[in-house]
Amino acid sequence: MEARVKINGTIISLVKGDITLEETDAIVNAANTNLAGGGGVDGAIHRAGGPAIMEECRKIGSCPTGSAVITAGGKLKARLVIHTVGPVYRDGTHGEPDLLMSAYRSSLNLALEKGLKSISFPSISTGAYGYPVEEASKIAVSTVIEFIRQNKGFNLVRFVLFSDKDLTTYRRALEKVL
Ligand code: ADP
Repeated sequence: MEARVKINGTIISLVKGDITLEETDAIVNAANTNLAGGGGVDGAIHRAGGPAIMEECRKIGSCPTGSAVITAGGKLKARLVIHTVGPVYRDGTHGEPDLLMSAYRSSLNLALEKGLKSISFPSISTGAYGYPVEEASKIAVSTVIEFIRQNKGFNLVRFVLFSDKDLTTYRRALEKVL
């Protein structure tokens, strides 16, 4: 079941699903610094979007952890893909929270600069990069809420979680932040 709240004119929505099917202006990819493609959501986005996305990624070259770059969406319903790089989780004392916050913020800033009205995020860093979902969800949700309190412009910011468990964890994080 979808959870949604409206803050400062922006709907924040939490759903379970496959982000490659989203129809928001942009979807966010949990990429790696080489923009080289990989497993998880990155692999799914390149498979669904076709080779044009990777061609653009090759031209861009790389993206530091905590930053974001943008490409067209190829065959995806979303017009654009924002590729951001979350931190690899070690033990939480190596700047992971700040870098994760920065990945969300960089993505939102890029979307805002491009005038986008809607954007979907996956749960950045909580797959192969090993960030505990409970901690990551708090950072994800609070960073987005802080951003939309400070910036008007988005109609919709959506989190697309890949499992019921992740959806529940993000819902709890949202309830706590409100
Ligand atoms: P990272 O390397 O940043 O940890 P992963 O892609 O390994 O990125 O995992 C991030 C999250 O994306 C995980 O919760 C994973 O289950 C989820 N995920 C994988 N495929 C999809 C998809 N098609 N749509 C949405 N989320 C997905």
